[in-house]
Amino acid sequence: MRLTQKKIEEIMLSILGEEGLSLIKELSGKQNVSEFELADKLKKDIKIVRKMLYLLYNHNLVSFIRKKDKIKGWYIYYWTLQPESIKFSYIKRKKELLAKLQQRLEEESRELYFTCPNKCVRLNFDQAMDFEFHCPECGELLSQEDNTERIETLRKKVSEIETELEELMEKRKVRKIATKARKKEVKVRKREKQRKKATTRKAAKPKLKKITKKKK
Ligand SMILES: [Zn+2]
Repeated sequence: MRLTQKKIEEIMLSILGEEGLSLIKELSGKQNVSEFELADKLKKDIKIVRKMLYLLYNHNLVSFIRKKDKIKGWYIYYWTLQPESIKFSYIKRKKELLAKLQQRLEEESRELYFTCPNKCVRLNFDQAMDFEFHCPECGELLSQEDNTERIETLRKKVSEIETELEELMEKRKVRKIATKARKKEVKVRKREKQRKKATTRKAAKPKLKKITKKKK
């Protein structure tokens, strides 16, 4: 999955709100950024910046290292965004949303809904029956709602997210296979190197023996 700036921002917005976007911009593409530098650049109190960073940390979206400031004697934290976790979080969020929408779609398709002509309420069959098909707010007679458009909208959204998730998972799979292949190649090369070393050692041994014998 290509992690576009838009996707990163979508996740960060849901965790930090608008305020967090400038923080993300400062962290993007960098490693081990000092929290004091962040506070400076964002023109925000260090406490506020730390709070945001810890929030991200709780979602596994950033990592940190700490170093002791030799002069001041306290620890300074250096932060780095975790792109893989951000991807994971994005996919997780989309899956949750998909599940929610699928459930709503299922309900909308299964249930009958009744609405008040004055638009006070929308009730399912059981609820409407409890009120004897009269609006609990204004007393008007309820009428059955045609929810085909609602169902159509939900269906569209569900299929959009399904397609996006499929694409993301497909790309993930391709990347995993590539990583595996790379690891295998490294292993093979390592083994070859060891074999070469072993054979040269074997070849060298008799020579050494000869030398020692000669010395004797
Ligand atoms: Zn009403």
